[in-house]
Amino acid sequence: MFAAGTSEGSAGTAPDFRCGRCAAAFRSYESLLHHHKTHEGLTRCPLCDTCLNRVSDLRRHMGRVHKLERPQVAAMLGRRGDWQAAAPPI
Ligand SMILES: [Zn+2]
Ligand SMILES: [Zn+2]
Repeated sequence: MFAAGTSEGSAGTAPDFRCGRCAAAFRSYESLLHHHKTHEGLTRCPLCDTCLNRVSDLRRHMGRVHKLERPQVAAMLGRRGDWQAAAPPI
């Protein structure tokens, strides 16, 4: 185990994962990875140019706002990093 006395004097709630491209900071690496996609344009809706926070939010957006079926969304977005394996291949 670690020796005692490693306290850096921080408040203890400071986010550990910071984006290198903007000032955003996150408390989990997964959140940071999702955030990186926004910089790559992977969360931008190709139909209305709305930028979502996550690819999963974009898929939901395209379904709700543009009334697209899942296969249509998949065809439009292609493979975008975290395309869920939960969706069976058609
Ligand atoms: Zn950023
Ligand atoms: Zn849209």
